[in-house]
Amino acid sequence: MSRELREVAVPGEYLGVAEEFLPGPGAYESDYRLRAAVIGQVLRDRINKVVSVRPFKAVTLPQQGAIVIAVITEVREDIARSKIYIVNNLPLKYPFTGILHATQIAEKTGEVKQIYEHLRIGDFVRARVLNRTPPYLLTIRDPKLGVVLASCSKCGATLKPSGDKLTCPQCGNTEKRKIAQGYGKL
Ligand SMILES: [Zn+2]
Repeated sequence: MSRELREVAVPGEYLGVAEEFLPGPGAYESDYRLRAAVIGQVLRDRINKVVSVRPFKAVTLPQQGAIVIAVITEVREDIARSKIYIVNNLPLKYPFTGILHATQIAEKTGEVKQIYEHLRIGDFVRARVLNRTPPYLLTIRDPKLGVVLASCSKCGATLKPSGDKLTCPQCGNTEKRKIAQGYGKL
């Protein structure tokens, strides 16, 4: 094992210049310098030109680019709020607030007129984290992202996918959502 593989960084530590590498998980760029965001092992991917820092402790914060599972808690005209419970398949000790802007919902821009037609309170969504610090901004603008589990707003039963909509197996109600590929699995 080379010395470099055991390189350890603390938050704020200089890792290199931005022309050399892109910041990966656990790293960030500031004034064209890359620095560590967490305490951990420095990993330099020379093929993809990415430097990242793997934290020593288990993940306790949503990381930029992470895939999270969140539950929608509020739907307004322009934003939806959620609580993030799972980050990259690991449960968080405490949930974090995640915000979805109307522009981060549909795969094509301008498709969303009413967030309510795509997301509702209580929906489980699979989303990607766009930034590094709270409040976390989320996106579901990808076929793999979106609602993964939703309940019927009339009777509360779990909705089943049916084409581009969701239907209730108990009362027959049909609802619209921004459905993720692989709906039904968290
Ligand atoms: Zn129903």
